[in-house]
Amino acid sequence: MKVKVAINGYGTIGKRVADAVSLQDDMEVVGVTKTRPDFEAKIAAKRYPLYVAKPENVEQFEKAGIEIQGTIEDLLSRADIVVDCSPNKVGAENKAKYYEKSGIKAIFQGGEKKDVAEVSFNALANYENAIGKNYVRVVSCNTTGLVRLIYMLKTNFRIGRVRATMLRRVVDPKEDKKGLVNGIMPDPVSIPSHHGPDVKTVLQDVDIVTTAFKLPTTLMHVHSLNVEMKEAVKPEDVISVLEQEPRIMLVSAEEGFTSTAKVVEFARELRLRYDLYENVVWRESIGADGNDLFVTQAIHQEAIVVPENIDAIRAMFELADKDESIRKTNETLGIQKVF
Ligand code: NAD
Repeated sequence: MKVKVAINGYGTIGKRVADAVSLQDDMEVVGVTKTRPDFEAKIAAKRYPLYVAKPENVEQFEKAGIEIQGTIEDLLSRADIVVDCSPNKVGAENKAKYYEKSGIKAIFQGGEKKDVAEVSFNALANYENAIGKNYVRVVSCNTTGLVRLIYMLKTNFRIGRVRATMLRRVVDPKEDKKGLVNGIMPDPVSIPSHHGPDVKTVLQDVDIVTTAFKLPTTLMHVHSLNVEMKEAVKPEDVISVLEQEPRIMLVSAEEGFTSTAKVVEFARELRLRYDLYENVVWRESIGADGNDLFVTQAIHQEAIVVPENIDAIRAMFELADKDESIRKTNETLGIQKVF
């Protein structure tokens, strides 16, 4: 029997999670929701059973001639789990309004506060903590990128304090209501940014401080990390460790990966929607100065959390252990060492 998955909020993350669920042999999409009958709702209705996220808007869908199967409450009654992909903080409202009443398991995204769920999740770092749980929060794109990399360093070397600067894409490509045309915005202007504390919701014992800036780009985030190692490490040893992990892609400026623009150009050849589920780490950026290790990575914000949502579903229903779940997710999404 496949786990029946509902997706509440068919936006940037929701549509990707729906497509990824559809590729698995142990789960299926029983429906997705939209709030308004726009062009995305029309596309969603062609791909999946469509439900209305806000019951008061049913009439709008009927007027627009878009076939719907009911409201969010109908969808929840037909599902085993809901993956909430609604905007920041709306997930917590949906939990109180719908999920708790229906008794359904739920996954939340990184825009929610950590107390929305029993565990903040990253498949590599704490898959086991989500086993059998009812409410899990997949941490944000930046936090997922940081946690994966720090987890790999921490399990293979003795690490001390981590300092990281996040150079963040200002908005996603589809956004036309806000942006930053000509400027670099310290966000927040004072230290620390929320990313360090968020990493600690998954890796509690990591000493980390982060700062963040918004840049006028929509493509990817870039992270610059400085890790104080407890003993000197050779860059080639760090590269060997990262080469073992499929969810980390090592690229080289020498091969032409000179910026996020080139990384995205490569991804356009590789994947639908140019989705990069992997941390993209520049080989040449891995450098040591005494006990200080430096690494630069790029994160495709629209895609990186997608495999984590699939693994979270498997953990919550005890469908597979960590290695087996990650292997299946990687295989179905095409996550493999390309270089
Ligand atoms: P989005 O705006 O692209 O999509 C949200 C969708 O939810 C929209 O289709 C919207 O119409 C719908 N919605 C609005 N109100 C709703 C409600 N009450 N119930 C159900 N659906 C509702 O947002 P997104 O970028 O996909 O973000 C979703 C979540 O994922 C947020 O928590 C965000 O922080 C997190 N996240 C986003 C990114 C990213 O870069 N886009 C990366 C990682 C995590």
